[in-house]
Amino acid sequence: MGKITGFKEFERVLPTKEAVEGRVQHFKEFNKGYSENELNKQAARCMDCGIPFCHSGCPLGNVIPEFNDAVYDGKWEEAYQILTSTNNFPEFTGRICPAPCESACVLGIHSTPITIEEIEKHIIEIAFKKGYVKAHKSYLKTGKRVAVVGSGPAGLAAAAQLNKAGHDVTVFERDDQVGGLLRYGIPDFKLEKSVIDRRINLMKESGIEFSVNTEVGKDISFYELKAYDAVVLATGSTVPWHMQLPGHEAKGIHFAMDFLKQQNKEVSGISIDQERILATDKHVVVIGDGDTGSDCIGTSNRHRAKSITQIARKPTPAKERLRNNPWPMDKVTFGTSSSQEEGCERLWATETQEFVHDENGHVKAVKIKEVQYEVDEFGRRTRLGESEVREIPADLVLLAIGYKHTEQRLLEQLGVRVDEKGNILANDKDYQTSVENIFTAGDCRKGQSLVVWAISEGRECARKVDEYLMGYSELESKDFLATHQA
Ligand SMILES: Cc1cc2nc3c(=O)[nH]c(=O)nc-3n(C[C@H](O)[C@H](O)[C@H](O)COP(=O)(O)OP(=O)(O)OC[C@H]3O[C@@H](n4cnc5c(N)ncnc54)[C@H](O)[C@@H]3O)c2cc1C
Ligand code: SF4
Repeated sequence: MGKITGFKEFERVLPTKEAVEGRVQHFKEFNKGYSENELNKQAARCMDCGIPFCHSGCPLGNVIPEFNDAVYDGKWEEAYQILTSTNNFPEFTGRICPAPCESACVLGIHSTPITIEEIEKHIIEIAFKKGYVKAHKSYLKTGKRVAVVGSGPAGLAAAAQLNKAGHDVTVFERDDQVGGLLRYGIPDFKLEKSVIDRRINLMKESGIEFSVNTEVGKDISFYELKAYDAVVLATGSTVPWHMQLPGHEAKGIHFAMDFLKQQNKEVSGISIDQERILATDKHVVVIGDGDTGSDCIGTSNRHRAKSITQIARKPTPAKERLRNNPWPMDKVTFGTSSSQEEGCERLWATETQEFVHDENGHVKAVKIKEVQYEVDEFGRRTRLGESEVREIPADLVLLAIGYKHTEQRLLEQLGVRVDEKGNILANDKDYQTSVENIFTAGDCRKGQSLVVWAISEGRECARKVDEYLMGYSELESKDFLATHQA
């Protein structure tokens, strides 16, 4: 344990952010880091409690108290080794993870949790600066070939682990750049794309091959996959939910991803071959209150929208945990994302009724009604009534209401079965699909989720592929680490 009295002496402090007026002028990351002294204090807050619930709060099983200790002692290489024993890409999670580990932090029961996510980001960035992060070349090759379809965090984690085990790995990506939603969903102000490039360059140096602009099932046939000993499907959950309401065909109504992808391309200097979707001087209505909705708000503010209104169906979340959401569960309370902080009106318990368009067929308003709910201490809702329908102005409507499942065409070609939701059928023990040598990981299996889950699934799936190919595996797994630490 770093400092026995640390949690009593030091308050939770997050690094400062560039002020709103400044940061909405650009698309760069705006979080300033800790000073060395502040980082040391934040790590010192870790109590090294008997049962660190943060381990199980983290889908990767990150070994948090141990890396906090190493940070407190300034043992950077050790901190880096501990962190990367469970996480291939802490530079991604350290920036964009919603940090369920912090919800489970024991200190959070009576005080504020450790700033685990920030500490994680500092460890990996210091490790890069000090030159600890190197390509992982496997000199003992197995001669087995694995194809990974999809280069989001799940595909990348699976590829990194399989390469480490000595297999020859090729990642196929239909987009022109590698990264999945890290690249073309999440905006640069949350994750600059140079952070992805830095990692991909190391992966290439490690011997992993990337084939972009290659849609499996179209640019290469599924017959060509037969040349591989195993295949990992990591195709994400990419089919969005639509709102089939009156007027939904009006011009100016777009899926959030179409808007965000264009912007990420523009920031990277990649040409956009469709009509540009801009929020500039427009009344923007964002429907949906998740990460995607927030990203639309942040992007619209940077475009200089006239107004931004965000609509959520659910009632305003409680300020404190309800009885159906006790510690150490992932905390569900009212929060404000950095994009919402930059400016937008938030409407809760609001149902969208209709899209109204002008004589040119372009959206000009959204009809909504507010619902009154009573919410009890267990989070149970009783609908009490609803308001009259009213119109709010809208020149641009962005649908950010989630994703149904992965695309089905390739699965039909491969003969891979899906579950009742349309996700690839495979359990989270062996990650094996209904076709023997085809495995799967990430949102295409689990349904839409988080980057940290995608990395976790990619790692666990890689171990199962390795076992399938070799009869055993020496790759780390969450279960193995949990037993080993105990
Ligand atoms: C806008 C947005 C913001 C988000 N923000 C956050 C956040 O802040 N924090 C967080 O934790 N999570 C966030 N998420 C969720 C997170 O991005 C996903 O859970 C995660 O990326 C899933 O990883 P994946 O590898 O399973 O799939 P994806 O990242 O979706 O990658 C799948 C890849 O497969 C490729 N592909 C599909 N079919 C084929 C084919 N036939 N051939 C070749 N390639 C193919 C796709 O082009 C894509 O690149 C966000 C999601 C969105 C949409
Ligand atoms: S990956 Fe996410 S959940 Fe895991 S320790 Fe880091 S911030 Fe916490």
